[in-house]
Amino acid sequence: MEQQVDYGEIFIEFINTFKDDKGKLKYQQQINEMLAYRKKSLTIDFQDLFSFNENLANTLINNPKEILKILEDRLMNYLSELDPNYSQEVHNVNIRLTNIPRVVSLRKIRSDYIDKLISVEGILVKQTPVKERVKKAVFKHMNPDCLQEFEWPPDEEMGEIIEAPTVCPVCNKAGLFKFIPEKTKYTDWQKVVIQERPEEMPPGQLPRQLEAVLEDDLVDTVRPGDRVKVVGILEVKQDTQVKRGSKAVFDVYLKVNSIEVSQKALDEVFISEDDERKIKELAKDPWIREKIIASIAPSIYGHWEIKEAVALALFSGVPKTLPDSTRIRGDIHVLIIGDPGTAKSQILQFASRVAPRAIYTTGKGSTAAGLTAAVVREKGTGDYYLEAGALVLADGGVAIIDEIDKMKEEDRVAIHEAMEQQTVSIAKAGIVAKLNARATVIAAGNPKLGRYISERSISDNINLPPTILSRFDLIFILIDKPGEEDQQLASHILDVHSSRNIRDVIPIDLLKKYIAYARKYIQPKLTDEAKKLLQDFFVEMRKKSTESPDSPILITPRQLEALIRISEAYAKMALKPEVTREDAERAINIMRIFLENVGIDVESGKIDIDTIMTGKPKSAREKMMKVLEIIDTLSTSTECAKLKDIIKEAQGEGIDKSSVDKLINDMRKSGLIYETKPECYKKV
Ligand code: ADP
Ligand code: ZN
Ligand code: MG
Repeated sequence: MEQQVDYGEIFIEFINTFKDDKGKLKYQQQINEMLAYRKKSLTIDFQDLFSFNENLANTLINNPKEILKILEDRLMNYLSELDPNYSQEVHNVNIRLTNIPRVVSLRKIRSDYIDKLISVEGILVKQTPVKERVKKAVFKHMNPDCLQEFEWPPDEEMGEIIEAPTVCPVCNKAGLFKFIPEKTKYTDWQKVVIQERPEEMPPGQLPRQLEAVLEDDLVDTVRPGDRVKVVGILEVKQDTQVKRGSKAVFDVYLKVNSIEVSQKALDEVFISEDDERKIKELAKDPWIREKIIASIAPSIYGHWEIKEAVALALFSGVPKTLPDSTRIRGDIHVLIIGDPGTAKSQILQFASRVAPRAIYTTGKGSTAAGLTAAVVREKGTGDYYLEAGALVLADGGVAIIDEIDKMKEEDRVAIHEAMEQQTVSIAKAGIVAKLNARATVIAAGNPKLGRYISERSISDNINLPPTILSRFDLIFILIDKPGEEDQQLASHILDVHSSRNIRDVIPIDLLKKYIAYARKYIQPKLTDEAKKLLQDFFVEMRKKSTESPDSPILITPRQLEALIRISEAYAKMALKPEVTREDAERAINIMRIFLENVGIDVESGKIDIDTIMTGKPKSAREKMMKVLEIIDTLSTSTECAKLKDIIKEAQGEGIDKSSVDKLINDMRKSGLIYETKPECYKKV
């Protein structure tokens, strides 16, 4: 027989003597904090333990349940010796291990790991509310000769199902056992689901998930959307073992021992010294911005401004926190609205391949949580889960949303907050949470009438309300018009299909690293010169608004904020520490292109941004008031105003038939008028 090793003793020696690089006792500080603040957990770096005693470390990782119990019991004794009141107030202690070497990818979890300590990495996608779980039940033996109360199960803790004993541990007789809930020991308990990170998923596959259980002081230390590194023991679900015994198919879950949230979003893109050298070399090119734009979806012909906008979004500006702790986003949100078949989806697909931490989804969303977040009820267990949607999962990165016009109703409300404040608040089924959604949005949508109609406003063309449209910094419209360029388009597509080299572009891997590098390290500051330029442009545009009596609002402070972000993005594209005059000029230029593209005449200031977004310019609003007046007057003499008569009256006022039809339709929708009988209206 092997000689019994006293692991508890070795462990105490370890925490008493282990020194860090600077020669300081590494774990004494934590021990003091545990005593002072009645903390329940001691976190140990597994590598330290391994270097101290290989045998203990190896035994621990292969037989974690038994060994952890020995070590935790011994630690409790140790702490009570130092402070006798500790064990009165703190009933159990936990040893939490980090940095364990057995890192298993979610795709490779196999039965070999059952009952072993493993480490997995992923995104926390779902979380239940915190519940109370029975750790040790107290039963009473109802046999009149006994009537003793005892804790159950005696050694380990309760599994998933409370099972009464068959024989009394006190008197050794069978009988009736009564569960005593008030004396039973509980622990905080929470179930979460960890999912593979999108960047490690093989293309075209569904993400793998693993259920995990957090207990005690680990509950609520993480939130959906967090990227986590988890250490835990892989266990078999007990209920499945009992109920599906004959099938012999078991579900596993991870009983979590420690969980760390990874803060550094961009460390996921590995940049070597050699890469860094190449990146800095590229940045020296005076044409670097053009080079980057040309490298966005090079197989797509033309659409330069759209590629430029996508590049700007990929780099984005610098987020700021004001003294009153309001946060202003640095992310540049871009929307492409366009006719079918104009390569919108292709451009988006490309963006998702170069963006760091990219989440690609469609407006409908690939999960129940959609674009923001949702509380969902699981069919099998009936558990409620808070589930993170695309913008939360893309926190710190880029959310790419195709067919955004197909967005679900719930998302239409929540996306306003997600795009501006960059949080998602949810309160439903007892779950109250605020999740981070600091993501750049690159979206595309199809026109609601099949084709984009230039004569109409954006909101008339796409199934999105003006409030959502106004959250985009840049909107571009892609109209498929046959013409002069068809020759080049055709030869470009044919070249791509015959895999002939297109142009000299930055390889996609390097571009991705370049973007990650800029997002991580470059936070350019506005120079006075750049500031002045942006300010002058803003003031000038606002002045045009007040010149005409119609006073349209050409741009709003939102566009000024967008201009600042865009200027910063141009500086970031060249890895510059400062936003110079040139960056500001470029920003103003692309903003002009955007405004003109959507139909605003920047020079004369004829149409305002409000018209473009809402389709209701001041003059249209006046037309509406006029038509409403006509309806009111006509319906006083007869019981309702006939459409025919309204049109005749309106034409006398210079409003044509098609406008009247549209206005009536709008007014009915917004509840200003109602139809009392066919083609006859009354004011509400
Ligand atoms: P959308 O999402 O706008 O409906 P897709 O991205 O699905 O369009 O594009 C349809 C097809 O047409 C794709 O195969 C795309 O490569 C091709 N295509 C459209 N416009 C261009 C273009 N300008 N250059 C190269 N290919 C194009
Ligand atoms: Zn008994
Ligand atoms: Mg498409």
